[in-house]
Amino acid sequence: MEVKVLQNILSANDQLAARNRQLLNQKRVFTVNIMSSPGAGKTSLILHTIKGLKDKVKIAVIEGDVASSLDAEKVTAYGGRAVQINTDGGCHLDANMLVSALDNLPLDDIELLLIENVGNLICPAEFALGEHKKVMLLSLPEGDDKPYKYPLMFTIADAVVINKLDLLPYLDFDIEGFCRTVKGLNQRAEIFRVSCKTGEGVESWLSWLWNELKNYNSI
Ligand code: MG
Ligand code: ZN
Repeated sequence: MEVKVLQNILSANDQLAARNRQLLNQKRVFTVNIMSSPGAGKTSLILHTIKGLKDKVKIAVIEGDVASSLDAEKVTAYGGRAVQINTDGGCHLDANMLVSALDNLPLDDIELLLIENVGNLICPAEFALGEHKKVMLLSLPEGDDKPYKYPLMFTIADAVVINKLDLLPYLDFDIEGFCRTVKGLNQRAEIFRVSCKTGEGVESWLSWLWNELKNYNSI
């Protein structure tokens, strides 16, 4: 019975997500859903992305959080355009929340939309928003066992960004083994090794994103 209810919720969500996708395509807004645990560095990666691409493309950010607008304020302070969604305790964004956020954005004037999902490795993986690419971020202190514990998140990701690379010498994180496990779950996932603190590896993430955006616009 419970399984059936969840399936219905997900299919209603998928219908709304498809409508969001239609609107985004109509306005030519390339949209990326960024997911991770709390504290993995989603906001830091977004700030690097704004810094690296803002002269080439018009960027906006949707900030999903259980409460507060701290991350939206950081984005705005960085010169980015931000819309905040507070989920009032909800542990993920869903397609319906995105409907109202999109209403509040000047879509004609946006080419790249970054969505910072609520920090959680479980249900954000289940709820499509209408995005074109899903990115999951894992920071080294979380441990290299996460693909075993949260396989869905790693299976649906188009890109996996490993963050906090500067901490590698201090941790027992088997980075080669981790990459093999991710590839075992999901061969098409691109994997990036970055440190948002030092900037190491950020360039390769930016060039992937830039290429994906160009591919999208050439379709
Ligand atoms: Mg954040
Ligand atoms: Zn949830």
